[in-house]
Amino acid sequence: MAVPQNKVTKSRRNMRRAHDALTAANPAECPNCGELKRPHHVCAACGHYDEREVVAKADEIDLDDEDAA
Ligand SMILES: [Zn+2]
Repeated sequence: MAVPQNKVTKSRRNMRRAHDALTAANPAECPNCGELKRPHHVCAACGHYDEREVVAKADEIDLDDEDAA
């Protein structure tokens, strides 16, 4: 098994990790529902892309008809 020849000091370790930070996403506003969404992705909230619905969302299925009948 390979073994490190020298101890990596806290300073050197932390200097290496100085570049590990994640950058924030670049959210864009959905033109349909106004929710923040990832650019070039279908809106997770309403299933729209390019101002038309491409993914049917479950909450738009009307289940109240069975209860009322
Ligand atoms: Zn949306």
